[in-house]
Amino acid sequence: MKVNILGTEYTVSVTNEGNEPRLNNMDGFCDETSKEIVAENYQTKIDSDSKKNLLLQTKKVLRHEIVHAFLFESGLAENSEWAQNEEMVDWIAMQGPKLMKAWQEAGAL
Ligand SMILES: [Zn+2]
Repeated sequence: MKVNILGTEYTVSVTNEGNEPRLNNMDGFCDETSKEIVAENYQTKIDSDSKKNLLLQTKKVLRHEIVHAFLFESGLAENSEWAQNEEMVDWIAMQGPKLMKAWQEAGAL
């Protein structure tokens, strides 16, 4: 799948470590050098410690990595402290859908 990030095309994939070794010990990643966004497909490794709704978790990871891509494409990959703050990236990833809904309801888009 392709997604447009500020005019740059990124490839998005949901896969597992067997297919993508760079997922080793990671839930996902954004590689701004190759324009790739990759998220773990948790549904291929369900175990007794798994969360119940793994699709929701995968979607949250995808949103998180897409936020990184927006920041990278904004020129904030290396020299911005706030743009590399994982807590901030997570907040946007988690609250983004609610922001979008509130903006739509308010006619702010
Ligand atoms: Zn991150």
